[in-house]
Amino acid sequence: MDLFNYTPRPSHEVQIGNRPLGGNQPLRIQSMTTCATTDTEGCVEQCKRIIDAGSDYVRLTAQGTIEAENLKNIKECLRLQGYDQPLVADIHFNPKVADVAATIVEKVRINPGNYVDPARTFKQLEYTDEEYVAELQRLEERFVQFLNICKEHHTAIRIGVNHGSLSDRIMCRYGDTPEGIVESCMEFLRVCMKENFMDVVISIKASNTVVMVRSVRLLCEVMKQEHMDFPIHLGVTEAGEGEDGRIKSAVGIGALLCDGIGDTLRVSLSEAPECEIPVAYKLAAYIANSRTGHPFIPGIPSLAFDYVRPERRPTCPVMNIGGQQPPVVIAARLDGSTACGDLTPDYIYCGRKLPAPAQRIAGAGYIVDADQWTGEANTYPVYNSEFLFCVASSNAPLKFLFLSYSALNDEVKACLRQHPEMVVIAQSNHPNRTGELRALVHEMWNENLPNPVVFFQHYQCTAAEKEDFQLFAAADMGALLFDGLTDGIFLIDNAPKGQQPLADVVVDATAFAILQAARLRTTKTEYISCPGCGRTLYDLPGTIARIKAATSHLAGLKIGIMGCIVNGPGEMADADYGYVGAARGKVSLYRGKTCVEKNIPAEEAVEKLLELIEKDRQQA
Ligand code: SF4
Repeated sequence: MDLFNYTPRPSHEVQIGNRPLGGNQPLRIQSMTTCATTDTEGCVEQCKRIIDAGSDYVRLTAQGTIEAENLKNIKECLRLQGYDQPLVADIHFNPKVADVAATIVEKVRINPGNYVDPARTFKQLEYTDEEYVAELQRLEERFVQFLNICKEHHTAIRIGVNHGSLSDRIMCRYGDTPEGIVESCMEFLRVCMKENFMDVVISIKASNTVVMVRSVRLLCEVMKQEHMDFPIHLGVTEAGEGEDGRIKSAVGIGALLCDGIGDTLRVSLSEAPECEIPVAYKLAAYIANSRTGHPFIPGIPSLAFDYVRPERRPTCPVMNIGGQQPPVVIAARLDGSTACGDLTPDYIYCGRKLPAPAQRIAGAGYIVDADQWTGEANTYPVYNSEFLFCVASSNAPLKFLFLSYSALNDEVKACLRQHPEMVVIAQSNHPNRTGELRALVHEMWNENLPNPVVFFQHYQCTAAEKEDFQLFAAADMGALLFDGLTDGIFLIDNAPKGQQPLADVVVDATAFAILQAARLRTTKTEYISCPGCGRTLYDLPGTIARIKAATSHLAGLKIGIMGCIVNGPGEMADADYGYVGAARGKVSLYRGKTCVEKNIPAEEAVEKLLELIEKDRQQA
């Protein structure tokens, strides 16, 4: 694993109909229908919209044999209309349905957590070694039957592990850990290897981006140890919708793409499925285009860093930056603007001109170019590496230093060593900015320089390119956040000359949203909402909108909104409340992992959830 230089992870090619995946194939994009799979016309129209948007594959759920058999009609209608993209069946709980689907579509996704084992019940089950082995044998026998059908019909499979639906068997042995998630997958892959069945793609998804990134990193390592190179499907489940859904997906998926991991991806949004496709393309193109063949970065990894189980780099706290404190947000207001949204940045960089006190954003510290700094309270000087000679004359309790990797010379190192109160604002113009910024921090780590590091990222997006800005910034920051290297984040957008720039408050909100997406700093309500599929049991988009409208002021609260029970309680394991489809038009409510009310008519359930939250808040 080269931390500093973009190198796609080698994988073998898997044949999926007329669209092979992995190996030297391009990164494949996919999405999933949300109509009932028995609704042939609805599914055909939705598949066409998804394919027309540029999707390589379309997945449809099949909860029973009737739905699986109807995939044949859907496929035939699509082929008659000239759509030859491979279809994928999504199967949970019923291996017989997987068998049927494997005779019809080009790929079948199974979930190891519920393929043979019942899905997680949260009961603390005990397994003796003998019982555990017996369960594995049962799994293998059933899975081999399925592989034989796939071999006969040239059907590929996806082993799709979801954090939310690990079996009790895995949970009892490994707990709710990346190790458990990876083992759940490896049990199936080992059978595939034994059976010489190589048309397999793997996914490990979670709504918690930290769990997702760590688990995929671990999976790559474990596969390598066991001489496997199966291609990987990337995704963050239950990412939600709108800006937060995009940012959360880009942080998680982008972190892995930056490290060359991923052969196909799905950006799961609680929106019309075709809306996912342009987002996925932008993300994939941004990483591949900027990084492929970039100039070499000669970084030296710190021996203290563990890529698979990263912990936060130890830094000395300087005021509210570094140590164990959540990362700060620095924003720029070079024009003296006082625009501020709901969230106030911790620091404002104002360049050479410090506004008068009455014209400053309340609650923020101001960062001023060092030669203009006068020592006023709550203002702090920033230096660059050429003006270090004047650092000693400043008694500021907090100083900043703009620093690039190439400028980290012996003089700078000596200055940082002498001034632990100096926070580095790390910047890079390298095509692989993630790699170069990593190299800078690893060099500081190797030199035992505990100064906190804030990552500065700059973009050139116009006001109309808000989505691009959010995706690119989230993708660039992802790996640095999950590596534990980030004590702060500083985003700037400069639109090309003459064009309308992004509003400052949009840039600020993006920085806070990125930190929340990586679970490093919570500043608003978090919604863990599934994208919906043919299993969805109520009006998902309308429900999400109503719940959001009523709860968006409850910063820090996590609410899970799941269309059905497949991943429901598991994915929401760390949510405070859950709203889960229980039966057609019926909803169950959860407080934490506990179901507190079952089978409420969907039209009453949002009010009941709000009553539950309000009652708990009053009692708290
Ligand atoms: S949780 Fe949502 S996306 Fe997942 S299977 Fe249920 S309805 Fe479909």
